Amino acid sequence: MLSYLHGFHAGNHADILKHITLIQIMRHLNAKNKPYTLFDTHAGGGLYSLTGPNARKTGEAEKGILSLDFAACKAAAIPEPVEFYLNLIRPFLNNDLYPGSPLIERMLIQEGCPQTLCELHPAEFDSLVHNMANMAVHNMTGKNSVCGTEKPAMPLIKKSDGFKTLAAMTPPAVKRGLSLLDPAYEDDDEYDAAERTIIQVHKKWSAGIIMLWFPLLAHKKGRIQSMIEYIAGAAKSQNANTNVLRADFLIDAENSHKEMSLKENAASGQDAPRLYGSGVLVINAPWRLDEQLSESLSFLCTALYQDRRPAFKIDRFTS
Ligand code: SAM
Repeated sequence: MLSYLHGFHAGNHADILKHITLIQIMRHLNAKNKPYTLFDTHAGGGLYSLTGPNARKTGEAEKGILSLDFAACKAAAIPEPVEFYLNLIRPFLNNDLYPGSPLIERMLIQEGCPQTLCELHPAEFDSLVHNMANMAVHNMTGKNSVCGTEKPAMPLIKKSDGFKTLAAMTPPAVKRGLSLLDPAYEDDDEYDAAERTIIQVHKKWSAGIIMLWFPLLAHKKGRIQSMIEYIAGAAKSQNANTNVLRADFLIDAENSHKEMSLKENAASGQDAPRLYGSGVLVINAPWRLDEQLSESLSFLCTALYQDRRPAFKIDRFTS
């Protein structure tokens, strides 16, 4: 369908959870001075305005990243992963911008690590190409902040289906690595594609870390739960010792509002809240990621959506 545009949602609670998780996984990969492969199957446009009409229309960044930044300034202590995230994106926030996953990855990735980005939406693809090429112009990440060397080579940017591309490009030559799958879940078949792709990729590339973002939607609760259980079960059945981690950040109660599909929301002309939160599922979750997310989410619950009752859940899928 391709009607989803991330600019309406950039810097919201879901991006905060997703990007803190992504950063912690990349820091884990960076801890060893060895190359790794990175796939981002649903890359988006890469860079978003926090003051433009899209962000202003939903107010999601205001309630998300801007509120978090404000709360962090006032807090006596901030969990280290949250502090690292805010410091990393600070040059963008200072310019009323929010970096999407491809730019965050590029700030952290080490030299010699292949990075592949997929984006199907034609205008978002053009923005992505432009924003990746212009990162140095923004003078935000002239240097690789982790290893202090010059920027790594430009990523491979493909206007292709991220699910199919990931399945076709795995297993990669460099066996350490991460695949981020961040679909928009506009259509029901995206749940099927996520399930199918992850199981297929994990079978061929059992050492690869796979991170899937998913929405928490009351009207899709059963489908989301079955997708998670199916993926986690398949990974565990291949090797019972595989670390599978699920972390949910709930910004509201499940029945707090009437949910609309993206189509209904667009037709209503309103910006009704859709998600009551979101989650990440990580296969081959790095050591201590659960603790890092637990302390981060615990802080987010005190910093965001104080007019509601935010909560979090972590599930380790022990077998
Ligand atoms: N990962 C981005 C980030 O964190 O900044 C946000 C991505 S947004 C949630 C999902 C994106 O996937 C949209 O830009 C959409 O156009 C794109 N998309 C939808 N279906 C796709 C597909 N099958 N393959 C690649 N991209 C797709």
